[in-house]
Amino acid sequence: MNKVCVAKFGGSSVANYEVMQNCANVVLSNPDTHIVVLSASAGVTNLLVDLANGSLDEKGREDTIQKIIDIQENILEGLGHPKELTESIYRHIEYIRSLAHEASLETNAALVDRMVSNGELMSTKLFAELLKQRGVDAVWFDVRKIMRTDSNYGKAAPVVEVIRTLAQNELVDLCREKIVVTQGFIGANADGLTTTLGRGGSDFSAALIGEAVDSSAIEIWTDVPGIYTTDPRLVSTAHPIPELTFEEAAEMATFGAKVLHPATIQPAVRRNIPVFVGSSKNPRAGGTWIRTKTESMPTFRAVAMRKNQVLLTLKSFNMIGACGFMATVFGIFAKHGLSVDLVTTSEVTVAITIDNGFSGGSSDGKSLLSEQLLKDLRQVCNVEVEEDLTLIAVIGNKMSYKQGIGSKVFSAIFDVNVRMISYGASSHGLCFLVDSKDGDEVIKRLHVHLLD
Ligand code: ASP
Ligand code: MG
Repeated sequence: MNKVCVAKFGGSSVANYEVMQNCANVVLSNPDTHIVVLSASAGVTNLLVDLANGSLDEKGREDTIQKIIDIQENILEGLGHPKELTESIYRHIEYIRSLAHEASLETNAALVDRMVSNGELMSTKLFAELLKQRGVDAVWFDVRKIMRTDSNYGKAAPVVEVIRTLAQNELVDLCREKIVVTQGFIGANADGLTTTLGRGGSDFSAALIGEAVDSSAIEIWTDVPGIYTTDPRLVSTAHPIPELTFEEAAEMATFGAKVLHPATIQPAVRRNIPVFVGSSKNPRAGGTWIRTKTESMPTFRAVAMRKNQVLLTLKSFNMIGACGFMATVFGIFAKHGLSVDLVTTSEVTVAITIDNGFSGGSSDGKSLLSEQLLKDLRQVCNVEVEEDLTLIAVIGNKMSYKQGIGSKVFSAIFDVNVRMISYGASSHGLCFLVDSKDGDEVIKRLHVHLLD
């Protein structure tokens, strides 16, 4: 076998027995697919997060556990309740119950990760059995054997070199003989304790695994046939994009398009592995290929938005012309492990956005803007916090080298208050902040103006 393709299926693709069959069809239709990475069945991670946060009373916990059982039972039923598998799933349920009890007394980030990992562990066990019943020589594989991370529970960082070595030893031969079914989202630190990569992290897992085994392609199967010019639920004329460059895809994933986890692209870029995004329900509808080079390079390719942005305006006390302020400020963000998105500066102020939304969040769903962060910043500057902002990203090619980009974009929304603009760092994107109430309207108008 020379080629290995990694296929990842998201939560909605493995939500129940019926849709899991579509995933099996996709796996069976490509002889190169030897590694399958799954999310938890839709809804399960959220339920597990609720249990892990420890705020539910006993009745609330039992109701929540019952919802998780119902989802597993639908799939077990389709599979005909194989004895060993059924027992294994109910062991997970018992474990979830005991962790939920523990969390109600006192919870912590390590416990949350142990709890939420059950979602992916169960979906993969169920799907491995489904593949076997379809005649596939499938094997369930515990990804924690290879997915080494640091100990930053809730949003752990992968240790790429270790993952590569472990995967070469544990996975490469195995997937030569069988189809390996394994978990997205979860990993383990050097002590073998369970960690997670942050919400929506399964795409990232698939890409990391693809990188570690030198896969020929990474396929991300979801509920839409590719990445769209914008969210089709918002704009009816939005259409799938057949090809995107890695740079454009990175901008899109970072700045709004929810189809891909923002970190997914990095491992693929490092090893130049093409990434495909398509619909597991409708694989023939095609999808989006993301590669180094694309045939067309339009100036405007897509518009995206990301809600729930926080803008911090940091005003230095005394330092016209002084140096080191930016270094200090960024040092504080780094200490808190927070990545800064947009930055603009004037002589004495720096404005910074951070993503408080779902994709930027950690597995326990807590706000990234902690009291301690604000306290640390207030030691060195005045801090103003504005919430309820939406980041709009216009994505394309060579934007900062062409005439009239600004007027094309902003004439379409001449009557909207633009709070901050970031442009010129990447020639693939123009980003700005608007009030949350204006976000939808801005996207609609920009799509008509630039992409219809
Ligand atoms: N199950 C995890 C989540 O819901 C990871 C994923 O779906 O990618 O965030
Ligand atoms: Mg998901």
